[in-house]
Amino acid sequence: MAGLNVLISGVGIAGPATAFFLAKAGANVTVVERAPEPRTGGQNVDVRGHGLTVIRRMGLEETVRSKTTHEKGLKFVDAQNVSRAEFPIDDGQGFTSDIEIMRGDLGLILYEATRDNVRYLFGESVKSISEKSEKVEVDFENGSPTMSFDVIVAADGWASTTRRLAFDPKTTHDCLNDLGQWAAWFRIPHKESDSDWARWYNAPGKRMILLRPDNAHVTRASLWAMPSDDHMDSVARKGIAEQKAHWKQLFHDAGWEAKRVVGVMEQANDFYMQKIAQVNLPHWSSGRTVLIGDAGYCPSPITGMGTTAALVGAYILAGELAQKPKDIFKAFQMYEDRMKPFIKTAQKLAPGAPSMANPQTQWGIQILHWFLGFIAWSGILKWMGPSFNPPATGIELPDYTFA
Ligand SMILES: Cc1cc2nc3c(=O)[nH]c(=O)nc-3n(C[C@H](O)[C@H](O)[C@H](O)COP(=O)(O)OP(=O)(O)OC[C@H]3O[C@@H](n4cnc5c(N)ncnc54)[C@H](O)[C@@H]3O)c2cc1C
Repeated sequence: MAGLNVLISGVGIAGPATAFFLAKAGANVTVVERAPEPRTGGQNVDVRGHGLTVIRRMGLEETVRSKTTHEKGLKFVDAQNVSRAEFPIDDGQGFTSDIEIMRGDLGLILYEATRDNVRYLFGESVKSISEKSEKVEVDFENGSPTMSFDVIVAADGWASTTRRLAFDPKTTHDCLNDLGQWAAWFRIPHKESDSDWARWYNAPGKRMILLRPDNAHVTRASLWAMPSDDHMDSVARKGIAEQKAHWKQLFHDAGWEAKRVVGVMEQANDFYMQKIAQVNLPHWSSGRTVLIGDAGYCPSPITGMGTTAALVGAYILAGELAQKPKDIFKAFQMYEDRMKPFIKTAQKLAPGAPSMANPQTQWGIQILHWFLGFIAWSGILKWMGPSFNPPATGIELPDYTFA
């Protein structure tokens, strides 16, 4: 595929992973990222099943494993910090996966592995896309000259701007399946009570606090809420200070370690909030633009499958393009055909999620704890097979040659 000019928008996980394989196959790859540098924010992300196979095929398993968080499992705790149900890492297919890594660490590993063969432009994003007969012409927001490409890969996340620019609004206007939940992620200083276990605390009013270990003795906090109105949309459009103030107000009386968490949230420089939603589209390409990762099929953080879907998508898209560089439309179709059954299972939510795991009342929380305590005690998940986060199936990874 030497000579194929590809533009990728977004340096998250999907963007640099796609760049990795395309550059290996000889394409000229340019990647633009809106942020001024690689983003190191975010919490633990899971690499499961086929995602790990892709990392192996990149030759990065050892590097990735050296950065894992060593989380031992998940405890559901009550307001007194008493554990009510425990799910150890076990087979790596439950809440805590075989590879738990900080999103920023994985992103940096992929960026480092590609930076010598790929042209990265930070602080830049796509302004407009115009399809010509054999190429697509792109204008940029921040001063880069107009450029022509054979393919544009939109890897700019669930709210993808590139998707909006390239697709017919009729196709995309209702592509977000809003799950009615919001989350905010940030680092907080480690305390003795933060062990190697993740701790999940439910507070009345459909609120949840999750504290997880990382590999640098810092605690990763996230706050989760299911507001009954759409007020959060306007909060998300405000500045970080206002967003933090809103989350503080929402959680100040939540009990357990809420005061500690919201108390230090103000100093967090990696605060990030996001709507919990899935992306569903009938097609993943429009003209010469193709969607990858969250931009095309975000399964949402509550499935634990976003990173794996992004890695597998990167491998399949690049593999199909490497096989058919002269017929990119056929390659897009093959990518979609191969990926769709996999994404269907990756997007599968646990029954009643996210509401069942976020009760409104103290009584509802008590019932949740009894239920989870029974599940943990009975070992029912083991004989049910892969547990509440089954690794998605529905795909065999072809053996593509990229060199
Ligand atoms: C800061 C951050 C923190 C996250 N934290 C978590 C977490 O804690 N747990 C979890 O499960 N998932 C988290 N996610 C989502 C998770 O990374 C993805 O679900 C998954 O890894 C798939 O990645 P992706 O590359 O498709 O999208 P993303 O990881 O969302 O990456 C998209 C990239 O595109 C960039 N971008 C956006 N718009 C533009 C634009 N117009 N032009 C150029 N670049 C643009 C973004 O800055 C980002 O770097 C986070 C995402 C981000 C951006």
